[in-house]
Amino acid sequence: METLGNFINGQHVASQSGRLGPVYNPATGAQSLNVSLSSADETRDAIAVAEKAFETWRKVTPLNRARVLFKYKALLEQHADEIAELITKEHGKVFSDAKGELTRGLEVVEFACGIPHLQKGEHSLNVGRGVDSMSLMQPLGVCAGIAPFNFPAMVPMWMFPVAIACGNTFIMKPSEKDPSVPLRLAELLTEAGLPDGVFNIVNGDKESVDVLLTDERVQAVSFVGSTPIAEYIYSTASAHGKRVQALGGAKNHMIVMPDADPQQVVGSLMGAAFGSAGERCMAISVAVCVGDDVADNLIESLSKEIDGMRVGPGLGLADEAHMGPVISKEHCAKIKDYIGVGIEEGATIVRDGREFVVKGHENGYFVGPTLFDNVKKGMRIYEEEIFGPVLCVVRAESYAQAVEMINSHEYGNGTSIFTRDGDTARQFCEEIQVGMVGVNVPIPVPMAFHSFGGWKRSLFGPLHMHGPDGVRFYTRMKTVTARWPTGLRAGNEFSMPTMK
Ligand code: NAD
Repeated sequence: METLGNFINGQHVASQSGRLGPVYNPATGAQSLNVSLSSADETRDAIAVAEKAFETWRKVTPLNRARVLFKYKALLEQHADEIAELITKEHGKVFSDAKGELTRGLEVVEFACGIPHLQKGEHSLNVGRGVDSMSLMQPLGVCAGIAPFNFPAMVPMWMFPVAIACGNTFIMKPSEKDPSVPLRLAELLTEAGLPDGVFNIVNGDKESVDVLLTDERVQAVSFVGSTPIAEYIYSTASAHGKRVQALGGAKNHMIVMPDADPQQVVGSLMGAAFGSAGERCMAISVAVCVGDDVADNLIESLSKEIDGMRVGPGLGLADEAHMGPVISKEHCAKIKDYIGVGIEEGATIVRDGREFVVKGHENGYFVGPTLFDNVKKGMRIYEEEIFGPVLCVVRAESYAQAVEMINSHEYGNGTSIFTRDGDTARQFCEEIQVGMVGVNVPIPVPMAFHSFGGWKRSLFGPLHMHGPDGVRFYTRMKTVTARWPTGLRAGNEFSMPTMK
């Protein structure tokens, strides 16, 4: 069976650690590959390579760095189907969803192509008489990224395009559950002309991560994953003097007001709750209905829609499935346990996905779309992140009660409100304690030129990812104040002035 290694200094390098992790196809349950789990020393070697590459890469002009990214964008477009297929084979999400993921990553590459403009800094003429001041946005050095399984292309691409465009070098530690896509992204960067050593991949687990968090040569760490690990990453890397942005888990609520368009609500909610089998950090896992009538109607419509859902493998069906399998056998069992817990806690199970089987894929990690009604604060299925195709409907008496639930929840990644009333929507945007807010938009993931990040225990660190915050995160400000003695004025110059 093939074993994936690392990508260091522009080439594939086999790991000698002797430790391996299995990679599965979630639709069949069959193991497809092994991935090496690198040793601490191998991780340190990769840092040395990235440190060396920084000496020259930081001096490449922003325009020439951007030109590599322009070529990269074209290559990603050219290989989009192939990459999406790889995503589906290791993650499980259906092919069209995998292509959507890649597009959202590619948009960050497009954003980073504008780096000559984004990294201009600021300038003030005459802060004093004959004194000018300017701010330089300089790269940090070696930066590290640690990614989760659920977006093997998009999440790494939230990080490295901006980091390298700013003149940093990068070490990516992908999820050990779906490592093929990041390796392909690295190969294409080399093909686009990125100098060796600027972007490196170290496959591994806690052993490599701990080196990235503590080695003094690493300047900044970007992390996306579950909240307990995000807290660990944030506290450890910060204590070692690094810049950190650590994005964690979520429990995203959608408020359904009595005046919302019922069809729009149901259509939006189905995709937001069950798309990608609920394994999105911006998935809606709680619908808060204001009023019993709203809840009764919603439950009836959702049940019908769920009964019409196609669940199956993400590739190879003439009529594409709406939803694929979840990532692993363990995760499948964990989601099913949560469903059992919800029933024990007294929530009403409307659709139960525990016994769901896809014909011909009996060993695949499938959970059927699951719907709970009468979910209440305090229940584990309400408080905890399930990260699967389980939608909880909560009944609230008023808008104020719905808002209070969201604001008191420990997570604050995304939320949305469905209403026809502009005043309610406006008030919601202002008072809600959540980082990303949608108005009649179920999954308000900001575009690449804005920044992505939650509040509360969904993000540790001051800066969000990509967009303007991404550029701030991957650059260090230096402010120069300069006064020049009166010099000789140059003589006449008649040729067209050019930069020399
Ligand atoms: P995870 O926390 O298990 O793993 C994330 C990364 O951390 C992986 O690369 C893994 O190898 C590494 N890791 C795991 N345990 C570690 C340890 N003890 N020490 C050091 N490193 C460790 O997360 P996951 O299961 O891969 O991804 C799902 C989670 O990610 C969900 O909680 C989801 O909400 C979250 N997520 C959040 C966002 C966001 O933007 N906030 C986006 C995507 C996913």
